[in-house]
Amino acid sequence: MRWHTLAVHAGTEPDPLTGAVMTPVYFTSTYAQEAPGVHKGYEYSRTHNPTRTALEMAFAQLEGAKYGLAFASGLAATDAVLRLLRPGDHVIAGRDLYGGTYRILRRVFENWGLQVDFVHTSDPAQVEAAFRPNTKMIWVETPTNPLLHISPIAILAEIAHNRGARLVVDNTFATPYLQQPLQLGADIVVHSATKYLGGHSDVVLGAVMLNSDADYEQLRFLQNAVGGVPGPMDCFLVLRGIKTLPLRMQKHSENAQRLAEALSAHPKIERVYYPGLPSHPGHLIAKQQMRLFGGMLSVELKVKDVNDLRPFWEALRIFTLAESLGGVESLINHPARMTHASIPEEERKALGITEGLLRLSVGIEDADDLLEDFSQALRKIP
Ligand SMILES: *Cc1c(COP(=O)(O)O)cnc(C)c1O
Repeated sequence: MRWHTLAVHAGTEPDPLTGAVMTPVYFTSTYAQEAPGVHKGYEYSRTHNPTRTALEMAFAQLEGAKYGLAFASGLAATDAVLRLLRPGDHVIAGRDLYGGTYRILRRVFENWGLQVDFVHTSDPAQVEAAFRPNTKMIWVETPTNPLLHISPIAILAEIAHNRGARLVVDNTFATPYLQQPLQLGADIVVHSATKYLGGHSDVVLGAVMLNSDADYEQLRFLQNAVGGVPGPMDCFLVLRGIKTLPLRMQKHSENAQRLAEALSAHPKIERVYYPGLPSHPGHLIAKQQMRLFGGMLSVELKVKDVNDLRPFWEALRIFTLAESLGGVESLINHPARMTHASIPEEERKALGITEGLLRLSVGIEDADDLLEDFSQALRKIP
C-alpha cells in the first residue's frame, strides 16, 4: 500500500458487529465472559481495549513493524523501553534530547541503576568511543530537539549490533512518513504521538514499534503490569490524526522550508537550524534517510538578553507561544526558559541552547501569513 492509502486505512476496518466505518470508541473497563476464562480476547481494559488494539495495529503498519504498542504518553513509552534494561546496564544517549527524556534518564533511571552517557550521536566516532562492556542501548533522536542535529541511523544501527546493543530511535520529529528507522536497522522506535501523529494538539499519547518477539512480550507485560495505558477516546483521536499524516507532513515541511530560507537572510537572525538547508551540516544524511525535512526549525536571534524579546512575543498574532509541537497550528517556544528549562544552565549553554534561541513548530497555515507574522514581530525587537 502506498502512503496516503496506508495512512487512511491503517488499523481501521469496518466494525464486524455493526459495520461502523470508523473505529468505535469502546468506553468500557470490563467485558462479559461466557464462562470463567472464556471470552472474546478482552477481559479488562488496562490489558486490552478494542480501540487501543486498532491504534496499535496502525502504529505497527506506519513504521513497517511487526508490533505496535500504545502508552499514556511518550514518556510512558520511553519508561517502558528503558525497563527492558537491567540496573547496571549502560546507555549511550544523544546530547540534545527532548528535555523530558533527559530528565527521566538522569533523575529516574540513574537512581534505578542505569549508567548513562550523553554524546553527539551525529558523530558515530563519539558513540563508538562511549561504548563500555555493559552498554546495552543507544538512544537517539534525529532530527534532535531543539537544534535539529541529524544522526545517521543505519551507521548507528551497525555500531550497536556489532556490540550486542539495541538502537532506539525517538522518531517524534520526523514521523514514519518522513523517516522509517526500523527499515534502516534500528531495533525500537518510540513516538510522542502527542505531536505529529495526533497532529492537532488535543491529546497526549505515546507509541512503541518494534520487530523483536522477545522485546515485544516484555513490553506488553510492562504495559499491563505498570499500567501506563491511554484511554479509548485518546486512541480514537490519534487514529483520526493518522489519516491525514502524509498531507500534513507535506505542508509542514513545505512551510518550514519557506521560513528557513526566508529567515536565513533576515538581519535580526544570527543562524537558522533546519536540515532542509544545504548549509546544515546534516543535510546530506537527512536527504538520504528522510523523505522531506519536517516542520521543526530553530532560529538564533541576534538578541542575547531574553527581556528584549518581550515586544516580540506580544506582537505575534498567528504563532502561539507554547510548549509542544506537531499540531496544525504554528507554535513558538523558548527552549532555555520552557521545554529545556530542566537541563542545568551550564549544560544548556554547552549544547548551544542559548537565551536567543527560538524553536518553531511550523503549522499548516499559509506560509505567507506565517512569514508576515514572524517578520512584523521581529521588527518590534529593539
Ligand atoms: C514530547 C516529546 C516526548 C515526550 O512525549 P509526551 O507525549 O509529552 O510524554 C518525547 N520525545 C520527543 C522528541 C518529544 O517531542
